[in-house]
Amino acid sequence: MKLDSMYQEIILDHYRNPHGKGLRDGDAEVHHVNPTCGDEITLRVKLDGAVVEDVSYESQGCSISQASASVLNDLVVGKTVGEAQQVQEAFLELMQSKGQSEGDEEILEDAVAFAGVSKYPARVKCALLGWMAWKDATAKALAGHPEITTD
Ligand code: ZN
Repeated sequence: MKLDSMYQEIILDHYRNPHGKGLRDGDAEVHHVNPTCGDEITLRVKLDGAVVEDVSYESQGCSISQASASVLNDLVVGKTVGEAQQVQEAFLELMQSKGQSEGDEEILEDAVAFAGVSKYPARVKCALLGWMAWKDATAKALAGHPEITTD
């Protein structure tokens, strides 16, 4: 796999110093596995009304999956669930672009560093692991709080 060196640096930086790692209090917990690479994540979402108060996680696996979870934490904590879901969809779109998209840096910030990963189908699953876990955990958390609307 060959990535732009600046982007590679961003990914390695998140891998070495993951943001928000560790399990803390949450409204819902999920465990997701990427068997093709051996990546695993246990992720909790804590909501404060319609705001994502915290995303905490324990994970192991390759640098792509670990860095992606760190970037996820940066991008969704503090946003409303609706805003965070838009970021998640933008990241999913980028990962499905097969190298054709550069991503919108306004929305995706450090996550644009994963643009090159979209050319490698096996690694796309690594990059999406934490995001799919977040989506799943958020749906669970929302199911437990029917009073929260995300529009
Ligand atoms: Zn992986």
